[in-house]
Amino acid sequence: MRLILLGAPGVGKGTQANLLARKFAIPKVATGDILRAAVQEGTEIGIRAKRYMDAGELVPDKLMVELVEDRLAQADCRGGFVLDGFPRTLHQAQKLDKFLQQSQMPITAAVSIEVEQAEIVRRLTHRRICRHCGQDYNLIYNPPPEDNKCRICGGELYQREDDKEETIVRRLQVYRTETEPVKKFYAKKSKLKIVRGSGSTEEVFENLLAALTPAICT
Ligand code: AMP
Repeated sequence: MRLILLGAPGVGKGTQANLLARKFAIPKVATGDILRAAVQEGTEIGIRAKRYMDAGELVPDKLMVELVEDRLAQADCRGGFVLDGFPRTLHQAQKLDKFLQQSQMPITAAVSIEVEQAEIVRRLTHRRICRHCGQDYNLIYNPPPEDNKCRICGGELYQREDDKEETIVRRLQVYRTETEPVKKFYAKKSKLKIVRGSGSTEEVFENLLAALTPAICT
């Protein structure tokens, strides 16, 4: 099972990718998580990526393609993977397609999770994340405990720099101009599935599995 999750920031790709990874016992490859870890560790990639991330801009394609190809070449991805946050430009999609063809690892499906913009802004501005284990909370839909510590590990919660309202607006613009065309790319290959991302996590996951069923069975 080789899956790509598309969708604007805040539609719940990360949460659904975790559920897919667990259900199909495949690694989740989330480029945002990889970059944030690199920033925190102060690696060269992290240093190069940080200013783009803080501004809500995309990190240059060349860096992203190298990073993802290295990750997908690792042994744990031989049995499948779920990509979250990549590809985000047409160029990334073309490069990925070529790499997967050469590696004889064609994708099973690309799923676009869709939520209306006002809801996205509401979700992102209220998102809080555990600095320690990465668990995310939402002040409205899934509030953290009263002491504002992570329910799972007791870690400190924080708001991502790019989850501030000004940056969210830019990220959504970038999504429309750069990432929407990626949907067409997979539609032309008959690989695109569209899933509504409103409703509970469980409902969205059910819709997602239903959308994937034909692809899994062929
Ligand atoms: P995310 O956690 O997926 O919202 O990603 C956070 C930020 O990391 C994005 O706003 C970009 O700055 C950067 N990023 C993540 N994935 C990519 C990608 N495929 N291409 C370019 N930049 C990316």
